[in-house]
Order: sequence, then C-alpha cells, then structure tokens
Amino acid sequence: MQILDGKLLSQQIIEEISVEVKEMVEAGQRAPHLAAVLVGDDPASQVYVRNKVRSCEKVGFESTLIRKGSDTTEEELLEIVEQLNEDPAIDGFIVQLPLPKHIDEEKVTLAIDPKKDVDGFHPVNFGRMAQGLPAYLSATPFGILQMLDRYNIEVSGKDCVVLGRSNIVGTPISILLSRKASPGNATVTLCHSRTKDLKSHCLRADILVVALGIPEFVKGDMVKEGVVIIDVGINRVEDATAKRGYRLKGDVQYEEVAAKASFITPVPGGVGPMTVTSLIKNTLRAAKGEVYK
Ligand code: NAD
Repeated sequence: MQILDGKLLSQQIIEEISVEVKEMVEAGQRAPHLAAVLVGDDPASQVYVRNKVRSCEKVGFESTLIRKGSDTTEEELLEIVEQLNEDPAIDGFIVQLPLPKHIDEEKVTLAIDPKKDVDGFHPVNFGRMAQGLPAYLSATPFGILQMLDRYNIEVSGKDCVVLGRSNIVGTPISILLSRKASPGNATVTLCHSRTKDLKSHCLRADILVVALGIPEFVKGDMVKEGVVIIDVGINRVEDATAKRGYRLKGDVQYEEVAAKASFITPVPGGVGPMTVTSLIKNTLRAAKGEVYK
C-alpha cells in the first residue's frame, strides 16, 4: 500500500509555481494577484482562508484578504464582488463559502465574473468543464486529478465509483473522470443518498472517491483488494484526548481500508492540501490568460 501524500505533492507543486512566478516577475510582469472575501466568523472558513493567503505568500503572489462581519448585507457583498470583477489588478478571487444564512450563495456565485472565478463554481466554468472546453476546474476535483496524474495511477478503462454528488466535489469529479482526457476515460458510477445497495457498487470499484461528509463511512468489507482510495471527507470528531478536543477523520475507516488498498489518501494530509494548491494553480492560469483568451 502506498500513501498518496498530498502534503508532499502540494509542496512540490508550490515550488514549481514559485519558480514560474519568479521568472514572470524577472521578465517585467507583475505577480499574479488573488483576492479572498471572508464573511462572518465560521472557524473552519477562517482556517481555509488563512491557508490560501499563506500559500499565495509562499509562491510570491500578491494577495488581498477582505474580511467582513456576519452582519454584512447581500447588497454590500455583491458590491464587493462587482469591484473585484472590475479591478484590473486582481487576476482571480474567491468568496469563501458557506456564507451567513441571510445571503443567497447562488446569487453571489452568479455575480462573479467567470474569467476571475478561480474556484470554478460559476455555471459557465462548470459547463465548460463538462464539455471539455478550457475552464477553471473547481479546486478539489482539480487536486484529485493532479494527484492521480503525478502518482501515475492508471484511470483509463477503470471502474471508478464516486460517493456523493455535491456540486463542488462528487458531481464534477464524476464528469472529469469520465471525460475523454487524461486522467479520464474511466467508467464512472455516481452513488448518492438514494443509491440502492451502495456496498455492491463500492466492491466493484478500482478507484473509489468518497465525498460524503460522514466520518469513517466506508469500512474494510466494502472495498476490494488493490482499490485506489481518494478520501475527500474532512470531519471533526470529538475526542477529549486530542489537544483541540477533536480529531479530523475522513469518510473512510482508514486502518481497515488501507489494509486492502493499493493507494490511499490520508486525512489530514491527502486531498486537503491539493485543494489549496489547485486554487493557486488556477490563479496562475488566470494571470497568464490561459483559460479565457
Ligand atoms: P455535501 O454535504 O454537499 O454532499 C454530500 C453528498 O453525500 C450528497 O450528495 C449526498 O447525496 C451524499 N450522501 C449523504 N449521505 C449518504 C449516504 N448515506 N449514502 C450515500 N450518499 C450519501 O458534501 P461535500 O461538500 O461534497 O463534502 C463532502 C466531504 O468532503 C465533507 O466532509 C467536506 O468537509 C469534505 N470536503 C473536503 C474538501 C477538501 O479539500 N479535502 C473539499 C470539499 C469538501
């Protein structure tokens, strides 16, 4: 069994991007610039945004963090989005989700200029992705593709089973793995809360992508020998013996499943770090005008 080390891989990618940014700046171009908007005080969101800003610093990007209180109105947020859309100094930006309940996330996502939507959440980017056109791929699926690619995992012709159909992970990764592309060309089954006999689907999987948000849902008896496991779940599970009072657990019962897997992503240190790196990669693509010419 080999661990798919997202932490190490993302450090390598960050190093590669830093070199590219240095060359851009030496050639007289300005450094890519990512802005992040954080509304409210959700603790997990604060950590995610901090990591994103820190990664920008590591690669030599400019970054702007716009922090707003949880009483920010939808109109105020839409105005910020509009300003960022118009600002020629910003290559790409994200609005960290979830937003406070009184703000319509869909409305905010739709207001972002697809050319600057480095999270890849706008339907224009999603549609372009589905049709195989140049697009910003949403960060988690993009990170998974890079991981499969860099570890030389054969995907073509394989049976891939995806658990979970969210717009940001399950559905896009199911499309990407089935596209005529590399990595891709897999036969994909997308399972969700209404799937009958989910275990039988899991047992067929050569590659199992799990994005449910249920700690340790996939047990050892649900997978076959040699399976490749991509565990997307990040769940805080209370644990009085842990320093913070909780531990992070994936959607897979790690010990049981690792014993049968050929490759597996740990939690933490698997898909998570690749997600942040993919956002940085999308911002570089935005600055280079690679997606929308
Ligand atoms: P979500 O809550 O939006 O969607 C969960 C999906 O699981 C739904 O489609 C639902 O149909 C399906 N589901 C729920 N219970 C099920 C069951 N019993 N059987 C079959 N299907 C079931 O989830 P999401 O936003 O995709 O996130 C999933 C997990 O991944 C969460 O733990 C989240 O924290 C994590 N996540 C991690 C990263 C990362 O960077 N590693 C990024 C995004 C999300």
